[in-house]
This record gives sequence, C-alpha cells and structure tokens, in this order.
Amino acid sequence: MGASMTPADDDLVFMDENSSHDGGSADAQHAHVWRVMIIDDDEDVHSSTTFALSNLEIQHRPLNFLHAYSAAQAREVLARESDIAVILLDVVMEQDDAGLQLVRHIRETCGMAEVRIILRTGQPGYAPEIEAIRDYDINDYKTKSELTRIKLFTTVTAAIRSYEQIRAINASRRGLDLIVRASTELMAIHGLQNFAAGVITQIAGLLSLKPEGLLCVQDDGSDTHDGLFIIAAAGNYTTLINRPISAIGNTKVINTLSQAIKDRRNIYGADYTALYFAGSATREFAAFLNTGAALNEMDKRLLEVFCSNISVGLDNVMLVSRLHQSAFYDPLCKLPNRTRTVEIVGEMLAGKVKKDTTLALVDIDHFSEINDTLGHQFGDQLLLAVAARFQKQFGEQVSVSRVGGDTFALIGSGTLVNPATILSLFNTPFSIDGEAVQLSSTLGLVRLTDYQGGSGAAVIKDADIALKRAKLRQRAGHSYFSPNMETEIRERVRLMHALRSAFEKKRLFVVYQPQIDLATRRPVGAEALLRWKSDDGTLIPPDCFIPIAEYSGLIIDLGEWVLRSACQELVRLRRLGFHDFMMSINVSQAQFRHPRFLDMLELALEDTQAPATAIELEITESMAMEDPATLIKTIAQIKKLGVSVAIDDFGTGFSSLNYLQQLHVDRIKIDRAFVTEITSAKRGSSIAQMIIQLGHNLGLSVIAEGVEDDRQAEILLSLGCPLAQGFLFARPMMADDLPKWLETDGDR
Ligand code: C2E
Ligand code: MG
Ligand code: MG
Repeated sequence: MGASMTPADDDLVFMDENSSHDGGSADAQHAHVWRVMIIDDDEDVHSSTTFALSNLEIQHRPLNFLHAYSAAQAREVLARESDIAVILLDVVMEQDDAGLQLVRHIRETCGMAEVRIILRTGQPGYAPEIEAIRDYDINDYKTKSELTRIKLFTTVTAAIRSYEQIRAINASRRGLDLIVRASTELMAIHGLQNFAAGVITQIAGLLSLKPEGLLCVQDDGSDTHDGLFIIAAAGNYTTLINRPISAIGNTKVINTLSQAIKDRRNIYGADYTALYFAGSATREFAAFLNTGAALNEMDKRLLEVFCSNISVGLDNVMLVSRLHQSAFYDPLCKLPNRTRTVEIVGEMLAGKVKKDTTLALVDIDHFSEINDTLGHQFGDQLLLAVAARFQKQFGEQVSVSRVGGDTFALIGSGTLVNPATILSLFNTPFSIDGEAVQLSSTLGLVRLTDYQGGSGAAVIKDADIALKRAKLRQRAGHSYFSPNMETEIRERVRLMHALRSAFEKKRLFVVYQPQIDLATRRPVGAEALLRWKSDDGTLIPPDCFIPIAEYSGLIIDLGEWVLRSACQELVRLRRLGFHDFMMSINVSQAQFRHPRFLDMLELALEDTQAPATAIELEITESMAMEDPATLIKTIAQIKKLGVSVAIDDFGTGFSSLNYLQQLHVDRIKIDRAFVTEITSAKRGSSIAQMIIQLGHNLGLSVIAEGVEDDRQAEILLSLGCPLAQGFLFARPMMADDLPKWLETDGDR
C-alpha cells in the first residue's frame, strides 16, 4: 500500500499494487476495468496522473491506463483501441490547438461518442473555456493547476459514472432496437415452429449468446407439466422438438419451465434463464435458455420487454396456424384436405417426380346411403376407420389425404398406389361399434410423371375425371386417366344438360318391342324402351344417355315417367282387347335402390290402374350382383305387389347359381350376344342351352332377346326356350303403331 492519503481523508479505496491491471485490448479484459487514456506531451503529467489514480477502484473496478505523448500518437492508439471510458487530454501539444483538433477527431472520425473527455491545460488562454466545451463536445475542462489529486480523482470518477450511464442508455436503446427488429422479423415468419425457433435465436442474439435452449407451449389448458410440449429447440436440445418436456431428462430444466408457467413469470438462475410468455387464454409459452452466467439487470429488463412483445406475436402465429389448419386440413380425419392436396402435388411436380409416382382418388361406394341410413356419426367413424387403414398399411411411404366427403387421395410409388393393392384393403370388413361393415371403393388414378412441372390442380381434376369414368362403368372398379377422357367428360356434361332439357320439353318418348311366343309366333307382351330424339332430329341411343341419366340423378324422374307411360299403354291395349298382354319395363340400379322406389311403383300402378300381374321389371345381371341382401328384400317386396321381376342381359354378369335362387326372380332374359352366337360356328348354342336349362331347373321363365333370323328362332325353340324378342318379329315401335301391328302382323 503506497499512498500519501488514507482512505479516510478522501474516501478512496486503494488496492494492492500487485493486483493492478495491465492494459489489454481484448474486450473480455476491458469488461472489468475502466480504461483511462492520458494524452499529454509532458511525461511528468503521465506519471503524476497514474500515480494519483492508480490502485483506485471506481464502481468496483480498477483503472487501466493508455498513454499517448502527442496528438499524432494518440490518433494511432485510438485507431486500435476501444472501450475507453475517459480521456485526459492536453490542449497544447504539436500545435496550440492540437488537443482541440483531437477532440473533433475522436468524436467525428473515430465516432467515439461515449468516451468522456476531460480537457487539461496549463495555459487557460489557449482554449476559451465556454467555447471549447460548446464547440468541441468536451465533458470537462480543467487547468492543470486546478487538478489536485483529490480533484483529479473526483473529476475522473464523475466522468466514469457518466460514461457508464451513457453506455447503459445506449445499450438499452440498442437492445430495444434489436427487440423491435427481432419482433418485426419474427412477425414475417409463418408457422408456429419457425416462429418459436426464431424466438430462441433472437433471444440468443439479444444476449450475445450461442442459441442453446428450447421453447415449449402448453397444450389446451392442461396444467400438468406433461401438457407442455416442445415446439422449438436449439443447441443440445434440438432432438427434443415435438416431444413433451418430460423427454428433456433434466429435472432442473423441467421444473424451471413448469414453475415459470405456474407463476407466470421469468426465472433467472445462476447460469440459465426461463422466460414466460403470456399467450391467449388456453395457450401459454415458456422458454428455457442456457445463459452460462447470471444475467445483469439491463439484460433482464430487455428480456421482459421482449417477452411481452413476443407474446402478442405468438398469439397471432397460433391464430394464423389454427386458420391454416382449418383451411388446409380436414377436421375429422386430421388429414390434408383438397386445397392442401393440390399444394402437395404442386410441390411434388415442381421437383423431380419419381418415375412411377401415382395419385389415386379412392371413393367409397354407397357412402351417402350408409350415412343416410346409419347416421352421420356412424359415417364419420367409417371414414376414420378407412383413413386409419390407409395409414397403417402405407405408413410414411404414401401421403394420405381426404379430398371430399367420401373421397381419399393416396400419393406414392405405383408399387403401392395401384388398383390391386388399394382395392385389396377393402377385402376385410371395417369394424364400427362392434359391427362389421363391408365396403368397396372405386378408384381414379393418374401418373404424376405426365404432369412434371405442371399444376397440382390439373392432376386432381384429371384424377376426378378418371374416377367419374370408373364410377360410370361400374362400382368397385378403377380407371387410369387418359387425355381423351376429358373430351368425353365435356361431351357427357353437354349431353346431361341436353337430356334434362329434352325431358322437360317432352322430347323423350317410349317405344315398344313385342315379345313373341316362339311356338305360336303370337305376341305375348312388349318391352318398353326409351328414346331420345335430339333437337337436330338424330336419335341418341339409350346406351349413351341412360348412364348419364343415372349419374345425374335424372333417372329417378325419367324412370318414373317411363313406368307410368308403359302402364298407361298397357291399360290402353287391354281396353282395346289385348287382355293377356304383358309389359316389361327396364329399371336401372339407381332407381331400384332409391328409398322411395316401392312407393313410387305402387302409386304408379294405382294412378294408372295397370294390373300389377301384367307388369314385369327388368333389372340387369351386373346390378343384381351388388349388395345382395337389400336386393333380395326389394325383390320380395315388389313381388308382394304382384309385379314380376326379370334378369336382363343374363349370362353377361357373374351371378352364382345359389345367389340366383335366393333372388326369387320370375324370368331370365338370355343376352343377345348368346342368341347371335347360336348360328355361329365358334361356340354355337352351348351357352344359350345352358341358360335355358338353368332356367328350367330353377323353375324360371326364359326369354331370348335379339333374335334376328329364323334359324336362331328355330334352335331356341328346339332348346326349350318358349319366348323371344327381336328384329325378326318386330322392331321397337311407337305406341300408336302397336295396336295395329298386334292386329295385323302380330296376329299370324
Ligand atoms: P335391353 O333392356 O337389353 O333392351 C334390348 C335392346 O336390344 C334394345 O336396345 C332393343 O332395341 C335391342 N334389340 C331388340 N331386338 C334386337 C335385335 O334383333 N337385334 C339388335 N341388334 N338389337 C335388338 P335399345 O332400345 O337401344 O336399348 C338399349 C338398352 O338401354 C336397353 O337394353 C336397356 O338396358 C336400356 N334402356 C332402354 N330403355 C330404358 C329405360 O326406359 N330405362 C332403363 N333403365 N334402361 C333402358
Ligand atoms: Mg331390357
Ligand atoms: Mg337386354
């Protein structure tokens, strides 16, 4: 302890000489000293100053000196040094005003605004006090004689205090600036996870630390710490993203986070910090950061401002992500919806699409009927079960989304996304409420490579076309998109509108084709066949427009109208004396499965007074294959009314013998194809013969359709087929022509 003063007289604290700090340029060292620069051409001033000030602590920090003996040398030192708190500056050096010039250099050239400058001069006349202070941004001005040791110390202490305050103010302004910038940057970030990751980086930036921490969110009002979920993490915590905080495996971190949420406050530890972000009513956030050391007051203040700023942002992001969720995800199955699927496909097409990548739309057959009969809740469960089966079967390899009520999209390699694999998933029934539900589906498929660089919307549109196409043909089928389908679809839509307006304008009519007793060649009845003469006079074949009417739902009204027309015609013929005459009417699948079909039939019979026993409904064999249980029930009810049922186009479908027996139909109609081949060399009459025998064995009536020549008629008769219909006997004719035909040609 070498000093001429005691702490008592001057209230100075002297330090042990050995602990005095040497100047060092590393910032880390500067943090714990005050750097004082002495610029004076008089060496004595240097030594007396250091002597007067050394071994002192100001604000718990020692001083550390830098020396320059001329203004020029000072410039050199200033060029490489920073963090200087005070400069004791001589005015007269190389020139009379060298010191004053240096002030300007320090402030303007070096941009050192925070350093406090104390001007010292031996000759006051050289620097007029007031002007010097005003013009040169000097913080103090003393004559050397004025500066006794005590005075010097007080002056330097005051300067250091003011330097510290200026630094603090500037630091906090910089901090606030950073916060504002951080918040604006964060607001531009979309998605909660990105935002949360941004929060961690920004905090690390504010504290000049390496990002090392995590951010968690409280999930939906749960107040156990298990409800805290990690949404962003940096440094050692990275692997914890998307896991509950219980996965952290460090009880200090877990407890601190839980505590911060529970107490709704920040927690500052010795080497860590937990921040609390007040979110909206249901969601709160907390962050944990490894800070390495305790934070100073300034940093805490800054973080508090930051936290309240960010809470608002987190809320917004949550809101936006929730909006995003409902805009892009199906709330029931939590799968991407149609809009998102379009995006997903678009993103795939923008990159390199693998060779066999396929998109399949999977439409559940008869889903709306299931929904209507068993309730929406049941329907929802069924959809969830289907989604779960897809996800279980395909895992990560196939993207599953729900693009419509009962339509799913599967995107992935063609080795998985193909009709055989997908349709096989429907082989086992789905179990809902302990009930086994057998489903089938129809597929529309598209190969993505054909669309490389194109739009997702185009792919989905084409897949829709392929799906419609598959549905038109047959349920539980599939179809790959091909470009000509699009034109077909456009044509079909045009036809659909035209058909509707033709129906309204009564441009549809029914023709009747007689059915003949082969033995007597006398007519026994007729089949009602629908005709459409378009505006330009061409006849559009029913094979073209019936599927459209079915698909558009028009078949319900159209079918009823045909039924009523045929019934009226039957009544008219009976009145004309054709008493045993029968009327066959084609009924399509959609009509037959319509819940009001039986009522409609009963009412038509009642209104027209047509005898039920003279009416026969024709259903196609392929239709007889679907949903046997319902079909058996409906047929039974129809027969209760007295109406009989025939299976049309027999031999083209796949009905099993056993099944045919259960259906209890009255008649089978041998398809024209087998009648035609009777006279051909290839297969001859074998199939026709088989069908006829089958009919006999089951006790069913048999009729052959499409008989065009006498040989066919003869063979059929010889095989035991009693009835026939075909161009040989009569073409379908207008209602008005029928009585005349029956009286003349038919009466042979
Ligand atoms: P379908 O019920 O098998 O009707 C028999 C079809 O064979 C009729 O064709 C008839 O004109 C045709 N045909 C009859 N004899 C001969 C022949 O000797 N040679 C040839 N080459 N053809 C013959 P059309 O009228 O074009 O009807 C086609 C199909 O459209 C019908 O087949 C039926 O499935 C459907 N259809 C017609 N009218 C209706 C209707 O009112 N409702 C429903 N749902 N479907 C109908
Ligand atoms: Mg028919
Ligand atoms: Mg037929």
